[in-house]
Amino acid sequence: MRLLLLAPPGAGKGTQGERLAAWSGARHIAAGDLLRAQAQVDDPLGREIAACQARGDLVSDQIVIDVLTPAVVEAAAHGGYILDGFPRTLPQAHAAADLAARLGVTLDAAVYLHAPEAVLTQRLLDRAHQSGRSDDKADVIRHRLQVYAETTGPLVPYYDERGILVAVDADQPPDSVTADIQARLARLAGAPGR
Ligand code: ADP
Repeated sequence: MRLLLLAPPGAGKGTQGERLAAWSGARHIAAGDLLRAQAQVDDPLGREIAACQARGDLVSDQIVIDVLTPAVVEAAAHGGYILDGFPRTLPQAHAAADLAARLGVTLDAAVYLHAPEAVLTQRLLDRAHQSGRSDDKADVIRHRLQVYAETTGPLVPYYDERGILVAVDADQPPDSVTADIQARLARLAGAPGR
């Protein structure tokens, strides 16, 4: 199975991504995690990524594409992928489509997790206590939600126009969100159990 998760910060992409990977046998590829790992490296690339993440700004498309491509190529050959946090801009969506075409694969669905902004903010503030993430602070959270609305939001109509958008209410307990996604995906060809 090949999916991408489209969602604002705090909607539960990471949690659902892991569950969907375990369920489908596809690999969970989390852009934020791969970038955070790269940000640990003390070199110009690592420092650039760390600075963007701490501000809540997006890392440049080229860096993201360079970091993500090897993982996508590898996963495409081993049961597929659940992309979590990539693509996040229209240029990244075009790059992801080009890569899939080069690999001879297509996307089964773009799962869009939505929840009211007040719910997202509260979840992120609650998580801030234990996450230790440089971007889980009130002002940075506000900025991340703004960046999402301006830059990633346009991907919702982009995938809808391509007929693969699956919109799910993320303002429910995690198990209910998982069940809703699985029920919707079960109707698609290539889903587990088909
Ligand atoms: P969240 O969705 O909660 O903000 P992520 O771990 O997905 O958490 O992303 C954290 C940060 O990593 C983003 O604010 C951004 O700086 C960087 N990042 C993640 N994915 C991308 C991407 N596809 N393009 C650019 N930057 C990204």
